[in-house]
Amino acid sequence: MPFLPLVYAALAAAGGCQQIHDRFGGAKTAFNGDSALAYVKPQLAFGPRVPGTPAHEKEADWIIAQMKQRTDSIIVQSWTQTTASGKKLPMRNIIARFNPAATQRVLYLTHWDTRPTADQDLNLGARAGSFPGANDGAAGVGLFIALGDVFKKTPPSVGVDLLFDDGEDWGSFDPDSSGNYPDALFGTQYFADHLPSTDYKPLYGVLFDMIADKDLEIYQEGNSVQNAPEVVSKVWQTAADLGYGKYFINQVGDYVTDDQLPLQKKGLRVIDVVDIQYGPLAPGYGPGTLSNPNYHHTTQDTFDKISAKSLQIVGDVAVTLVK
Ligand SMILES: [Zn+2]
Repeated sequence: MPFLPLVYAALAAAGGCQQIHDRFGGAKTAFNGDSALAYVKPQLAFGPRVPGTPAHEKEADWIIAQMKQRTDSIIVQSWTQTTASGKKLPMRNIIARFNPAATQRVLYLTHWDTRPTADQDLNLGARAGSFPGANDGAAGVGLFIALGDVFKKTPPSVGVDLLFDDGEDWGSFDPDSSGNYPDALFGTQYFADHLPSTDYKPLYGVLFDMIADKDLEIYQEGNSVQNAPEVVSKVWQTAADLGYGKYFINQVGDYVTDDQLPLQKKGLRVIDVVDIQYGPLAPGYGPGTLSNPNYHHTTQDTFDKISAKSLQIVGDVAVTLVK
């Protein structure tokens, strides 16, 4: 997903250098960050999970098989997506439901596809091909499979729907005049038009995207603060209560065009938990600052850039929210 670096400069000038101590002391819940990281590896072995490729097919089959070991309640949405250029792509959304009878539900979502092009790569020659997508795709899936481990053992107090959505990262993120996205965010647009039931209205939803960066710095995403501020407060307060204020930074960051938007448009209270500054943050710079190294949509999005610790932090927050 792309980002609009609108607000950070002003925010940094206003004193974004507040020191918050690292209070990470290991797992705070039954979530296992090492397992989540281990679930990334087989996905990378498939190769980039680009729609229309065998790796994409293998990945969906693998996710379904993994989640079948963790819940009996799985919905697969399959359709053929026509892209802006007229290409036809096979798509699958996978919805794994825990505590399926509960009427009060929380929706978690993450995309599972890989972008076909590394179009932000500093090496112009590398831009035409794809990239491993360790953080951008595989890590969210690893997080969700490890959440499945927790919910299988101890069902959450509310219903939880884990949506693995397809085709987030295909092409251009420009909206058309009706606010639809003709070349990306395919899975969530499809889901918004094909909700699991006509009265489907989760309490709230959280999108997890690029959440395993070793240098985890999650700012509050601009559209989320605008459209579902109470959900942002709930998630950031939960993180702070767990001692994770250093990672879930209590400041508004960039506006990110991502899978939260089609669901917000549908009227669902969904926020985006995304670390758009993928890589170390240089002093004085903020998310989206182009002078920083940023592995987002580059061939540098590899396994060595992500960590079990970051997955642990995000997993602890996800489990605590629905405990
Ligand atoms: Zn992406």
